[in-house]
Amino acid sequence: MFALIDCSNFYASCERVFQPNLKHKPIIVLSNNDGCVIARSDEAKALGIDMGIPLFKVRDIVAFHNVHVCSSNFALYCDMSRRVMDIIHSNISDVEQYSVDEAFVEFPPHFSLEHTLEWARDMRAKILQWTGIPTRIGIGSTKTLAKLGNALAKKSPKGIYYVSPNDNHLFSDLPAKAVWGLGRQSEKRLKGYGIHTVGQLLSRHREWIRKVLTVQGERMYQELKGIVCYPLSEGADEDQKSIMVTRSFGSDIYNIETLKESLIHHANTAGSKLRKRGLWTYTVGVYIRSSPHKSGYYSNFANIELPSPTQDTRALIATATQALQGIYKPGIGYKKSGIMLGHLTNSPNVKQLDLLAEDTSTHESSFPPFNQSTQLMKSIDAINKRYGHHSVTVGAISKTSTPWQSHKNHSSPSYTTRWTDLQKV
Ligand SMILES: [Mg+2]
Repeated sequence: MFALIDCSNFYASCERVFQPNLKHKPIIVLSNNDGCVIARSDEAKALGIDMGIPLFKVRDIVAFHNVHVCSSNFALYCDMSRRVMDIIHSNISDVEQYSVDEAFVEFPPHFSLEHTLEWARDMRAKILQWTGIPTRIGIGSTKTLAKLGNALAKKSPKGIYYVSPNDNHLFSDLPAKAVWGLGRQSEKRLKGYGIHTVGQLLSRHREWIRKVLTVQGERMYQELKGIVCYPLSEGADEDQKSIMVTRSFGSDIYNIETLKESLIHHANTAGSKLRKRGLWTYTVGVYIRSSPHKSGYYSNFANIELPSPTQDTRALIATATQALQGIYKPGIGYKKSGIMLGHLTNSPNVKQLDLLAEDTSTHESSFPPFNQSTQLMKSIDAINKRYGHHSVTVGAISKTSTPWQSHKNHSSPSYTTRWTDLQKV
């Protein structure tokens, strides 16, 4: 059994934790340089303020309804995210952080449904009490069902929703597009065959689904039927809004060069993920922090907008390095670093209009766009696919054991839990 734990209106909720007077008040959080709305409290949603809309377009609503406006504070959000994730990790061993505010967990086989629901109630209460962040939890026998449950939990007063693979009554009313990983193209194709609901989708044969929606669609179909196709840390991330690559270090790092090396490593991973999904990003965020268990805790986040969307690892590295220089403080033992590609788009040409609406000069990347890079990146991906991750990387990374690597040098392959580690016969 799986659960998806998702923080409700995460950025707005983080702001509320430290400003309790904002309880029940409409809140919006703005992108870099206060350009457009990137998060809303329920009250702000009820006023009809859309996601991504430029601030100037809703100025009247904001003034009239006294909407509280916050600039984004990613250092706060990343730290609150860490606290929430720490609580989850300390209560169950199998956790996959899916985004800054979402995590999948897998329950041990001996957990009954009742036990699982009780765990979820307890987890919500604990996260709320210890961090002040409200959450929703979806539960199901696969990640796809848990994700669906999470969306349905929005309307449940208890904030928890279990989806059974046999709930035909529920599926007959549910639009197909509610399913995790079912993109707009697939939805359109299904509509062409008169399939609008999950129930209609499930009434088809598996072979038919594979023909129409390829293997990816077949997996989704199986998952809806309660058959696990996505183990923890694999999944249909077609609708994922951001790519995060983070890592805790084996030992503390005291110099910027080694920290930079860890970011080069992350940028290579993030870049290949981006290209694998056919996406481009136009922001690169860097996160660094010391150990929260030692005195003088330091954590910071810097986000940089690119002049145009990119999927080139060299641009990611250059921008991440620039971001790091802005937040690095000497004399601190760093324990973790991360990269977040926060605004993804499926076209290299279009930068979302709402971001152009405001002057972005203060945080803009100082690097020119990298041209003619598609072929180079393709070659790198092809080599890495054939010879294993990080066989070829952009930028200099030591191949021998480095302090920023986690203590994982002695682990055997995950024979039973990872497709790529399966024994070959
Ligand atoms: Mg959320």
